[in-house]
Amino acid sequence: MIRVAVIGGGVAGITAAKELASKKFQVTLFEAKSTLGGKTCTFQSAIPLDLGPNWIHGDDPKHNPIVNLISSEVQFHDFNSDKETLFDRNGETIDDPHLKGVMWEVLDAAIKYSYKNTATIDSSLSLMDFAKTKYTDQVILDCVTTFGNYPGIDVHDQSLKYLFLEDCCPGKTLFVKGAYNKLINVLTASLPQSVKIITNTKVESITSNETSALISFNNVSEHFDAVVCALPLGSLKSNLIHISPALPKHITQFFSQIGIGNLEKLYITFSSKFWQSELYQFPDSFASSLSAVDVIAISDDPPILLVYYSGNLAKKLQHDLGPIRTPDWDPNLAENDWHIVLRYFHKHFEAIGYLPNSHKIESIVATRWLCDPLAGYGAYPNFPTTLKDIGPLEDLKKGLPGQRLWFAGDYTGSLIAMSTVTGAYLGGQNAAARIRDYFLPIDIANS
Ligand SMILES: Cc1cc2nc3c(=O)[nH]c(=O)nc-3n(C[C@H](O)[C@H](O)[C@H](O)COP(=O)(O)OP(=O)(O)OC[C@H]3O[C@@H](n4cnc5c(N)ncnc54)[C@H](O)[C@@H]3O)c2cc1C
Repeated sequence: MIRVAVIGGGVAGITAAKELASKKFQVTLFEAKSTLGGKTCTFQSAIPLDLGPNWIHGDDPKHNPIVNLISSEVQFHDFNSDKETLFDRNGETIDDPHLKGVMWEVLDAAIKYSYKNTATIDSSLSLMDFAKTKYTDQVILDCVTTFGNYPGIDVHDQSLKYLFLEDCCPGKTLFVKGAYNKLINVLTASLPQSVKIITNTKVESITSNETSALISFNNVSEHFDAVVCALPLGSLKSNLIHISPALPKHITQFFSQIGIGNLEKLYITFSSKFWQSELYQFPDSFASSLSAVDVIAISDDPPILLVYYSGNLAKKLQHDLGPIRTPDWDPNLAENDWHIVLRYFHKHFEAIGYLPNSHKIESIVATRWLCDPLAGYGAYPNFPTTLKDIGPLEDLKKGLPGQRLWFAGDYTGSLIAMSTVTGAYLGGQNAAARIRDYFLPIDIANS
């Protein structure tokens, strides 16, 4: 049988393993952490708290396969934009409905412009440059900064040329209520029994040629006929796995230009509820906070706020929280560290009704993706103004058959679902289909 090593047990790796095993390849799936799922993981607290994805970016099942995979397992929640409270930089709420929707208006126009003119747009232009061609009012430009938390990059650094890569599948964007890791349960339950799963095992190197591949872990080496590298793009960018022969220069150049979003989440449980809205958005200029901040009321009982933050704020806060224990970090923040979180967010909480003497903090759950090498030091790929050419994305999708090496991840699926769970799923399918085609002339079961 043809032996394939799949390295990385996130959505992309599990999907590639499943598709290959169901076509009679003999698959070994290596995962460095103690459990499968990668960034799609849920922390069990009083209620389940998703540490990675929470959203379905486009609920049309014809385009987004994730919808059918989990719709029977979770409820979807459609946030009512009427219940959204937007703040200006001075902490005043913005009630003008036009201003509330202006970020989406600018984004839609900019994405359309990017699709149409990508070939001629200067790569140094940003989303904010585009916004400034439409508006001069500072309040509006501040509203535009709230987009930063979507790609995990400041809108001044977000490429206009490649903004179309931030487009989503058709349909509504919905919040998954329950737990996104149910998707991992569904995917792992569908893995054929023949798949050998090896957890707690970090693969250190891949050495391959046109006929075989050798992978090394824990001072052991094992031969395979093919390898699927399902590590995050950030891991490849940071050379966290040794690949020999070295990847082509245009691909390593692409790695140096691509961005890795530093989006982080906090779940703060309070002794009592003090908020009125479901969703609050703060521009990056609010209280010198360095990044846009989104606050979502995910539960009234127990009272829990979910905070999204990114950019330089994420870098500073993560630095202040100190190093993490890998591979499996504990997201439950020690009480001694709660003041660090409050240092950056008390003004946001106060703006929505928080009174320190009345609303005690009971727990803080904090993601640490930016510090986690196994996550590729960040959340997911984004497209900064430093990016000159996305041609290598297509080459990564094709893989390197001459090196018996294929790639799977949220960057090898479809251009419309980049950097999402859907993209990772499609990326896993893409790698499996290409390996199948490569080995097709060989009778797989009898080889
Ligand atoms: C905070 C946050 C919010 C997000 N929100 C959304 C959202 O709302 N909607 C959405 O669709 N997407 C969202 N995403 C993105 C989504 O989670 C990812 O795009 C997707 O999970 C990536 O899957 P993957 O399989 O490509 O990579 P990963 O999930 O990163 O899996 C890679 C796996 O490889 C393992 N690994 C790494 N190095 C090694 C090694 N050397 N040897 C063996 N194993 C190794 C890792 O431990 C990991 O399990 C979010 C991500 C984050 C972090």
